Amino acid sequence: MIYLNGKFMPIEEACIPVLDRGFIFGDGVYEVIPAYSRKPFRLGKHLKRLQHSLDGIRLKNPFSNDEWKNLLEQVIAKNDGEDQYLYLHITRGVAKRDHAFPVNVPPTVFIMSNPLLPPPAELLVSGASAITALDNRWIRCDVKAISLLPNVLLRQLAVDMQALETILIRDGFLTEGAASNIFVVKNGVLLAPPKSNLMLPGITYDVVLELAAANRIPHEVRDISEAEVRTADEILLTSSTKEIMPITSLDNQPVGKGKPGELFARLHALYQDYKATNMRGGHSCGCSHS
Ligand code: PMP
Repeated sequence: MIYLNGKFMPIEEACIPVLDRGFIFGDGVYEVIPAYSRKPFRLGKHLKRLQHSLDGIRLKNPFSNDEWKNLLEQVIAKNDGEDQYLYLHITRGVAKRDHAFPVNVPPTVFIMSNPLLPPPAELLVSGASAITALDNRWIRCDVKAISLLPNVLLRQLAVDMQALETILIRDGFLTEGAASNIFVVKNGVLLAPPKSNLMLPGITYDVVLELAAANRIPHEVRDISEAEVRTADEILLTSSTKEIMPITSLDNQPVGKGKPGELFARLHALYQDYKATNMRGGHSCGCSHS
């Protein structure tokens, strides 16, 4: 069951007009929110990022945070599975084709849910492979825009090479993955690229840095050169649906010893504990004392 413009319906019955600006221009933004044991994870942070994306494209938020929470909870309740991932999508609505914003047009609002499966156990044991590519996206990668063509093409490069992800390099520095954030470990220090307009501020990225701080894991947030990525002891990938995954091969070369490293093991365990707190009804609002 999905939500579309005020109604719940089976996805097969959901239709949007061809003049929707999402379809015509990719003029919209989205969010992906995991729900564990039917509870949205870090909802407050996701809704804050949604507001940032809407501000970035100058589109008014159609709902208050309470209204979003209520709608998302209804979608979760109408779908199977204890763990689900919610996809919500807002476009600038339906109007005669013209690049300029239409006046007085209601946005299109769509929410769907899919089962959330943990990453395959064998990938956590052996690690996954990644390739690198030049980051050729626009310079508002902090906006979670539905116009994802560059990300689609970059991610497909990885699929073509039987790799899990494409790690992006802009002007000689790491930005992120085509659909994930990337961390590097060197000499026991966890390195994270700083948030900027060149990467999506990942919700999982924040969790990992909070866990590192709370558990005295040495970490630095700073620019990471391509050379540092290539000589890393460990590379970690994070996203709401993939959680934390070890990258053990980069452009067909082993990363460090070519197997998941110590910091991956620690952070993965800490992340599972943190999720369990959320499931038991701990804070899911995203405040830092959760
Ligand atoms: N960067 C990009 C480009 C993404 O698409 C995603 C999410 N799919 C992320 C980073 C990770 O963000 P989050 O941890 O909030 O899922």
